[in-house]
Amino acid sequence: MLKFYNTLTRKKEIFKPRKNKKINLFVCGPTVYDFSHLGHARTYICFDMIAKYLKQKGYRVFYLQNITDIDDKIINRAKEKKISWKDLSRKFEREYLKDIKALNINSVTKYARATDHIKEIISQVKKLLEKGFAYQIKDGIYYDISKFKDYGKLSRRTVLQAEDAVSRIDTAKEKKNKGDFCLWKLAPHRTSEASSSAGFEPSWPSPFGFGRPGWHIEDTAITEKYFCPQYDIHGGARDLIFPHHEAEIAQMEAVSGKKPMVRYWLHTGFLTVKRRKMAKSLGNFITIRDFLKDNSARILRLFALKAHYRSPIDYSEKEIKEVKEQLEKIDEFIDKLKSQRAKRKITTQHSKLIRQTKEKFEQAMDEDFNTPKAIAIIFKLINQGNSLINRDLLSQADAKNVLKFLGKIDEVFNFIFWGKKAVPKTPLFIKKIVKEREKARQRKNWKLADELRKKIKQMGYRIEDTKKGPKIKKIK
Ligand SMILES: [Zn+2]
Repeated sequence: MLKFYNTLTRKKEIFKPRKNKKINLFVCGPTVYDFSHLGHARTYICFDMIAKYLKQKGYRVFYLQNITDIDDKIINRAKEKKISWKDLSRKFEREYLKDIKALNINSVTKYARATDHIKEIISQVKKLLEKGFAYQIKDGIYYDISKFKDYGKLSRRTVLQAEDAVSRIDTAKEKKNKGDFCLWKLAPHRTSEASSSAGFEPSWPSPFGFGRPGWHIEDTAITEKYFCPQYDIHGGARDLIFPHHEAEIAQMEAVSGKKPMVRYWLHTGFLTVKRRKMAKSLGNFITIRDFLKDNSARILRLFALKAHYRSPIDYSEKEIKEVKEQLEKIDEFIDKLKSQRAKRKITTQHSKLIRQTKEKFEQAMDEDFNTPKAIAIIFKLINQGNSLINRDLLSQADAKNVLKFLGKIDEVFNFIFWGKKAVPKTPLFIKKIVKEREKARQRKNWKLADELRKKIKQMGYRIEDTKKGPKIKKIK
């Protein structure tokens, strides 16, 4: 039974979708003004794993992600670079999608840009004004958090506690409550369609005047359009719980009069460097692009999934080295399985091994997507499999079954086969046995040398002893 931890209730709950086997999942996407870093990669790899596991459980998943292509950060960066906001945001949207593709994050059904949903955003702001949840002051339209009874139910903050964090972002002095946030920012210098916005600071016409949307409203406008308006799962990094996700609930539940907007809230933990959050503002970040210059993408996938999605995960060279070693262990095991040639019958030991591993794997994943446990189970299988191979107890057919099983797991994880380099001409473990055989021959231990030759043959390789030493050839 699939269970996961719901930030809204602070409990692990049995998952029940709203409609049978169909799941609507929304995850906050990037603000496209710069390259994404490893912290972003961690979040999106985790939700990719979650979406893929839900699919494997037989659900049809509509995974929606927004792209924030208008925002103060974009406007400021565009001004700095003296290019238009649109050129900047389109460029970094393309770069984001390139990174996502490189990491094999391919479970997203639809990406929705904020600026493609201005009509829906205006409609929500209008409704909030009509229903008395919003008010207009000089620089824009604001949400009155004191009007929404349930404000703070996700982050467990009161209206008063909300003030500090929000007012740093929305600084207008005339606000009714310090914690009120902007829904529509008015463009003071623009009064007609014809007047220019200089390319840096865009604005759109609306019944309230030219302006641009606040950050929180784009998500609810987009989810209302595609999920109309209640849905199953909302995800994001944990720093979005407040004020962003709290604001989303306040907006959507006030607009629709229906609650809850979302049944399950899932949040990923931070990626840290020396225990501090990796962030643009702290300057301690590594971009995905830079990481992939020296490392394969599967390193990042295993690194991200080794920790539980809710736990913090600390990035270090040492940690990455350990991940590389683990991948080598996986690769060697797969190469061995692929080389198995023994034609014995399927052993009972092996089918029991797969059955047990499968059960345990599913139990771990069903328990709030416990990937560290699931990965430990895979490594146990590798150790036990290696031991069967070494004792010559695994047939070719057994090996095929294990490979098939690992293939199924890799549909969710994408670090076992995905991104793996082709098998080298002579795998390392064959070379090792050949060396052992050479030593046995030098010691004139002909019996052992012969046994090792047979073992090599069973793994699909033949030895030819030449004057220059042994030559290894693959049996066709
Ligand atoms: Zn968002």
